[in-house]
Amino acid sequence: MILDCAIIGGGPAGLTAGLYTTRGGLENVTMFEKGMPGGQIMNSSEIENYPGVTGEITGMDLMMPWPEQCQKFGLKHEMVNIVRVTKSNDIFTIHKEDGTTVQAHSVIIGTGSSPRRVGFSGEDEFFGKGVSTCATCDGFFYKGKEVAVIGGGDTALEEALYLAKICSKVYLVHRRDTFRAAPNTVARIKRTENIELVLNSSPDEVYGDAMGVTGLRVKNNDGETRDITVPGVFTFVGNDVNNQTLIQEDGSFLCDMNKAGEVIVDISMRTSVDGLFATGDMRIAAPKQVVSAAGDGAVAALQAISYVDEKLN
Ligand code: FAD
Ligand code: NAP
Repeated sequence: MILDCAIIGGGPAGLTAGLYTTRGGLENVTMFEKGMPGGQIMNSSEIENYPGVTGEITGMDLMMPWPEQCQKFGLKHEMVNIVRVTKSNDIFTIHKEDGTTVQAHSVIIGTGSSPRRVGFSGEDEFFGKGVSTCATCDGFFYKGKEVAVIGGGDTALEEALYLAKICSKVYLVHRRDTFRAAPNTVARIKRTENIELVLNSSPDEVYGDAMGVTGLRVKNNDGETRDITVPGVFTFVGNDVNNQTLIQEDGSFLCDMNKAGEVIVDISMRTSVDGLFATGDMRIAAPKQVVSAAGDGAVAALQAISYVDEKLN
């Protein structure tokens, strides 16, 4: 059987594409998601800018009902890592990690992005042993203790605020003296008493022992170092686009990409390859928001329905 549409990635973009393709009449649609559906927002301790959501809710609270809503309209979900998407004779082939393949008339890809490593000494060695990229997952381990947060964007500041509620103190280490995060979030940081700003400073080394991290050495822009005694270091320095599934055997990409590795799309989420649509954080000029990723998923789904209709009828 050839799928009408294969959806790669089950974040807000992929799930919304699943909802709209199935509800819009495509019969055989499978969403391939390597983990639990919901995407990276599942790691967020708080979301306050999704329309209609007022109370204090976590990313997981927001995303939990989405898969069930899609399944109601017939979306199938397979938990598998997709290693490659190829196209020949007008048919896409989805290559799964176990070596098997599935064919599809159209593909909507929304594999999102992953946390970037900062690059300081000890970061890899202590990853999972005191160095973390997820406050909701690991913050509780540092209840009543001091931690450091690296970064100056929305993620770093929001997660610093979350950690400040659990931990006795949060050192917010940022390489400049102004923040990229939303002004409202910066204001909240500044009035939180147990957050100390360590500005114009970058992490130099994280160190520890067999039990885990014991401290972080930071260096300021004048070259002076400071040791911060903490058992936990949370890094939030942006994300890299997950574009690996589009890399072909000869190393080229299946469709046109920009220099940052983001998929080039038009306003209908069409890529340079007919029948292939890219959505959410992985596409050019993405606002990197749940609401925009969901919007992309809906746009791509409507396009995929027209594409498949035209192709098969
Ligand atoms: P993702 O959410 O990244 O989902 C991609 C999915 O694809 C993942 O589930 C992944 O497992 C899957 N996948 C990847 N590769 C493969 C593969 N090869 N095979 C199968 N599956 C694969 N946005 C807001 O609007 N408001 C906020 O408050 C907010 N807070 C945030 C807090 C944090 C801590 C983070 C990290 C992000 C936050 N964002 C927020 C941004 C928001 O989460 C993203 O913009 C959004 O999730 C992007 O959705 P997406 O579907 O494009 O990708
Ligand atoms: P980001 O906006 O790219 O910010 C990354 C931060 O890390 C920047 O402050 C950057 O410093 C710093 N940084 C990068 N590399 C570094 C290095 N090697 N050493 C030290 N510091 C480094 O990433 P993000 O905060 O994860 O946000 C990603 C996107 O998701 C953004 O578009 C954001 O708006 C969105 N998002 C939105 C919300 C929300 O709407 N509530 C919440 C979370 C995320 P510089 O500032 O000096 O470059």
